[in-house]
Amino acid sequence: MRFDRLKLNGFKSFVDPTDLLIREGLTGVVGPNGCGKSNLLEALRWIMGENRPTAMRGAGMEDVIFAGTSRRSARGHAEVTLTLDNRDRLAPAGFNEEDQIDIVRRITRDAGSAYKINGKDVRARDVQMLFADASTGAHSPALVRQGQISELINAKPKNRRRILEEAAGISGLYQRRHEAELKLNGAEQNLTRVDDTLDQLA
Ligand code: ATP
Repeated sequence: MRFDRLKLNGFKSFVDPTDLLIREGLTGVVGPNGCGKSNLLEALRWIMGENRPTAMRGAGMEDVIFAGTSRRSARGHAEVTLTLDNRDRLAPAGFNEEDQIDIVRRITRDAGSAYKINGKDVRARDVQMLFADASTGAHSPALVRQGQISELINAKPKNRRRILEEAAGISGLYQRRHEAELKLNGAEQNLTRVDDTLDQLA
Protein backbone atom coordinates (compact mmCIF):
# COMPACT_ATOMS: atom_id res chain seq x y z
CA MET A 1 0.00 0.00 0.00
CA ARG A 2 1.54 3.30 -1.01
CA PHE A 3 0.51 6.91 -1.36
CA ASP A 4 -0.20 7.51 -5.04
CA ARG A 5 -1.77 10.91 -5.36
CA LEU A 6 -2.63 13.93 -3.23
CA LYS A 7 -5.28 16.39 -4.35
CA LEU A 8 -5.86 19.69 -2.58
CA ASN A 9 -8.61 22.21 -3.10
CA GLY A 10 -8.92 25.32 -0.93
CA PHE A 11 -6.53 23.84 1.66
CA LYS A 12 -4.38 26.60 3.21
CA SER A 13 -2.34 28.28 0.45
CA PHE A 14 -3.55 25.73 -2.18
CA VAL A 15 -6.64 27.70 -3.16
CA ASP A 16 -6.79 26.31 -6.71
CA PRO A 17 -7.26 22.56 -7.28
CA THR A 18 -3.80 20.98 -7.11
CA ASP A 19 -3.06 17.40 -8.09
CA LEU A 20 0.26 15.85 -7.02
CA LEU A 21 1.36 12.46 -8.29
CA ILE A 22 3.62 10.69 -5.80
CA ARG A 23 5.97 8.49 -7.80
CA GLU A 24 7.74 5.41 -6.47
CA GLY A 25 11.00 6.11 -4.68
CA LEU A 26 12.04 9.25 -2.89
CA THR A 27 10.04 12.45 -3.43
CA GLY A 28 11.55 15.82 -2.63
CA VAL A 29 9.50 19.00 -2.26
CA VAL A 30 11.59 22.10 -2.85
CA GLY A 31 10.69 25.75 -3.07
CA PRO A 32 11.28 29.17 -1.53
CA ASN A 33 10.30 30.03 2.04
CA GLY A 34 6.56 30.27 2.47
CA CYS A 35 5.64 28.53 -0.81
CA GLY A 36 3.63 25.82 0.99
CA LYS A 37 6.00 22.86 1.59
CA SER A 38 4.88 22.39 5.20
CA ASN A 39 1.25 22.89 4.14
CA LEU A 40 1.62 19.77 1.96
CA LEU A 41 2.83 17.70 4.91
CA GLU A 42 -0.03 19.09 6.99
CA ALA A 43 -2.49 18.09 4.24
CA LEU A 44 -1.22 14.51 4.63
CA ARG A 45 -1.63 14.65 8.42
CA TRP A 46 -5.07 16.19 8.04
CA ILE A 47 -6.39 13.56 5.61
CA MET A 48 -5.20 10.86 8.02
CA GLY A 49 -7.58 12.25 10.64
CA GLU A 50 -5.55 14.85 12.56
CA ASN A 51 -7.99 16.60 14.89
CA ARG A 52 -5.68 19.00 16.77
CA PRO A 53 -5.73 22.46 15.15
CA THR A 54 -2.35 23.20 16.77
CA ALA A 55 -0.80 20.40 14.70
CA MET A 56 -2.02 22.37 11.67
CA ARG A 57 -0.49 25.57 13.09
CA GLY A 58 -3.99 26.99 13.59
CA ALA A 59 -6.26 28.07 16.43
CA GLY A 60 -9.30 26.23 15.06
CA MET A 61 -9.64 23.52 12.42
CA GLU A 62 -11.35 25.95 10.03
CA ASP A 63 -8.01 27.75 9.76
CA VAL A 64 -7.02 25.13 7.15
CA ILE A 65 -9.54 26.71 4.75
CA PHE A 66 -7.99 29.25 2.36
CA ALA A 67 -8.31 32.51 4.28
CA GLY A 68 -8.12 34.88 1.30
CA THR A 69 -5.56 37.42 0.17
CA SER A 70 -5.72 41.01 -1.03
CA ARG A 71 -6.57 39.67 -4.50
CA ARG A 72 -8.66 36.57 -3.78
CA SER A 73 -11.58 36.09 -1.45
CA ALA A 74 -11.64 33.42 1.24
CA ARG A 75 -13.10 30.01 0.46
CA GLY A 76 -16.02 28.39 2.29
CA HIS A 77 -14.56 24.89 2.33
CA ALA A 78 -11.37 22.89 1.88
CA GLU A 79 -10.97 19.38 0.54
CA VAL A 80 -8.06 16.94 0.43
CA THR A 81 -8.09 13.58 -1.37
CA LEU A 82 -5.45 10.92 -0.86
CA THR A 83 -5.30 8.00 -3.25
CA LEU A 84 -3.64 4.82 -2.00
CA ASP A 85 -2.36 2.16 -4.36
CA ASN A 86 -3.52 -1.13 -2.83
CA ARG A 87 -2.52 -3.53 -5.61
CA ASP A 88 -0.24 -5.31 -3.11
CA ARG A 89 -3.39 -5.92 -0.97
CA LEU A 90 -1.66 -4.73 2.19
CA ALA A 91 -4.54 -2.50 3.31
CA PRO A 92 -6.15 -3.59 6.58
CA ALA A 93 -9.13 -5.97 6.47
CA GLY A 94 -12.33 -4.22 5.50
CA PHE A 95 -10.59 -1.96 2.99
CA ASN A 96 -8.65 -4.62 1.15
CA GLU A 97 -10.98 -5.49 -1.71
CA GLU A 98 -10.02 -2.61 -4.04
CA ASP A 99 -6.84 -1.89 -6.03
CA GLN A 100 -7.23 1.76 -5.18
CA ILE A 101 -8.47 3.46 -2.02
CA ASP A 102 -9.63 7.08 -2.23
CA ILE A 103 -9.91 8.93 1.06
CA VAL A 104 -11.57 12.35 1.06
CA ARG A 105 -11.81 14.83 3.91
CA ARG A 106 -13.78 18.00 3.48
CA ILE A 107 -14.26 20.82 5.95
CA THR A 108 -16.96 23.45 5.56
CA ARG A 109 -17.09 26.62 7.66
CA ASP A 110 -19.47 26.11 10.61
CA ALA A 111 -20.15 22.48 9.59
CA GLY A 112 -16.92 20.68 10.53
CA SER A 113 -15.25 17.78 8.74
CA ALA A 114 -16.75 14.95 6.69
CA TYR A 115 -14.87 11.88 5.46
CA LYS A 116 -15.38 9.42 2.62
CA ILE A 117 -13.57 6.19 1.76
CA ASN A 118 -14.13 5.08 -1.83
CA GLY A 119 -17.22 7.29 -2.07
CA LYS A 120 -18.87 6.03 1.16
CA ASP A 121 -19.45 8.35 4.13
CA VAL A 122 -17.33 7.20 7.06
CA ARG A 123 -16.36 8.52 10.51
CA ALA A 124 -13.05 10.14 11.37
CA ARG A 125 -12.34 7.06 13.47
CA ASP A 126 -12.63 4.76 10.41
CA VAL A 127 -9.98 6.78 8.59
CA GLN A 128 -7.74 6.94 11.68
CA MET A 129 -8.04 3.16 12.18
CA LEU A 130 -7.27 2.45 8.52
CA PHE A 131 -3.98 4.29 8.84
CA ALA A 132 -3.22 3.03 12.38
CA ASP A 133 -3.64 -0.58 11.26
CA ALA A 134 -1.32 0.17 8.34
CA SER A 135 1.30 1.44 10.85
CA THR A 136 0.99 5.05 9.85
CA GLY A 137 -1.27 8.01 10.62
CA ALA A 138 -1.40 11.67 11.53
CA HIS A 139 0.93 11.06 14.49
CA SER A 140 3.25 8.70 12.65
CA PRO A 141 6.95 9.24 13.37
CA ALA A 142 7.41 9.00 9.60
CA LEU A 143 6.09 12.58 9.42
CA VAL A 144 8.82 14.68 10.98
CA ARG A 145 7.99 18.24 11.99
CA GLN A 146 10.58 20.97 12.31
CA GLY A 147 12.16 20.68 15.76
CA GLN A 148 10.84 17.16 16.31
CA ILE A 149 14.26 15.45 16.27
CA SER A 150 15.48 17.44 19.28
CA GLU A 151 12.13 16.75 21.02
CA LEU A 152 12.71 13.01 20.51
CA ILE A 153 16.26 13.13 21.82
CA ASN A 154 15.00 14.82 25.00
CA ALA A 155 11.84 12.66 25.29
CA LYS A 156 11.07 10.42 28.26
CA PRO A 157 11.57 6.65 27.62
CA LYS A 158 7.77 6.09 27.74
CA ASN A 159 7.25 8.54 24.88
CA ARG A 160 10.09 6.97 22.88
CA ARG A 161 8.46 3.57 23.34
CA ARG A 162 5.37 4.90 21.51
CA ILE A 163 7.50 5.33 18.39
CA LEU A 164 8.56 1.67 18.49
CA GLU A 165 4.94 0.63 19.06
CA GLU A 166 3.82 2.69 16.09
CA ALA A 167 6.48 1.02 13.92
CA ALA A 168 5.37 -2.41 15.19
CA GLY A 169 1.80 -1.61 14.05
CA ILE A 170 0.12 -1.97 17.45
CA SER A 171 -1.17 1.58 17.90
CA GLY A 172 -4.51 0.53 16.34
CA LEU A 173 -4.80 -2.12 19.09
CA TYR A 174 -4.28 0.53 21.79
CA GLN A 175 -7.07 2.60 20.27
CA ARG A 176 -9.37 -0.45 20.25
CA ARG A 177 -8.45 -1.31 23.87
CA HIS A 178 -9.25 2.26 24.93
CA GLU A 179 -12.66 2.06 23.22
CA ALA A 180 -13.34 -1.37 24.80
CA GLU A 181 -12.47 0.05 28.27
CA LEU A 182 -14.89 2.94 27.75
CA LYS A 183 -17.65 0.48 26.79
CA LEU A 184 -16.83 -1.71 29.80
CA ASN A 185 -17.04 1.29 32.17
CA GLY A 186 -20.40 2.22 30.61
CA ALA A 187 -21.68 -1.36 31.11
CA GLU A 188 -20.47 -1.42 34.75
CA GLN A 189 -22.28 1.86 35.46
CA ASN A 190 -25.47 0.45 33.91
CA LEU A 191 -25.18 -2.67 36.11
CA THR A 192 -24.78 -0.50 39.23
CA ARG A 193 -27.92 1.40 38.24
CA VAL A 194 -29.83 -1.87 37.73
CA ASP A 195 -28.66 -3.10 41.18
CA ASP A 196 -29.87 0.16 42.76
CA THR A 197 -33.28 -0.21 41.09
CA LEU A 198 -33.53 -3.86 42.22
CA ASP A 199 -32.65 -2.80 45.80
CA GLN A 200 -35.42 -0.19 45.72
CA LEU A 201 -37.96 -2.75 44.45
CA ALA A 202 -36.92 -5.40 47.04
P1 ATP B 1 9.39 27.48 5.00
O1 ATP B 1 10.34 27.02 3.96
O2 ATP B 1 9.62 28.87 5.47
O3 ATP B 1 9.19 26.50 6.16
P2 ATP B 1 7.04 26.49 3.58
O4 ATP B 1 7.34 26.32 2.14
O5 ATP B 1 7.01 25.26 4.44
O6 ATP B 1 7.95 27.61 4.24
P3 ATP B 1 4.36 26.87 4.50
O7 ATP B 1 4.65 27.14 5.93
O8 ATP B 1 3.85 25.52 4.10
O9 ATP B 1 5.63 27.24 3.63
O10 ATP B 1 3.30 27.91 3.92
C1 ATP B 1 3.12 29.15 4.51
C2 ATP B 1 2.22 29.95 3.61
O11 ATP B 1 0.91 29.40 3.63
C3 ATP B 1 2.15 31.37 4.10
O12 ATP B 1 2.28 32.24 2.98
C4 ATP B 1 0.75 31.47 4.66
O13 ATP B 1 0.19 32.76 4.50
C5 ATP B 1 0.01 30.47 3.80
N1 ATP B 1 -1.19 29.99 4.49
C6 ATP B 1 -1.27 29.21 5.59
N2 ATP B 1 -2.56 28.99 5.95
C7 ATP B 1 -3.30 29.65 5.03
C8 ATP B 1 -4.71 29.83 4.85
N3 ATP B 1 -5.62 29.28 5.67
N4 ATP B 1 -5.12 30.58 3.80
C9 ATP B 1 -4.23 31.14 2.96
N5 ATP B 1 -2.90 31.01 3.07
C10 ATP B 1 -2.44 30.28 4.09
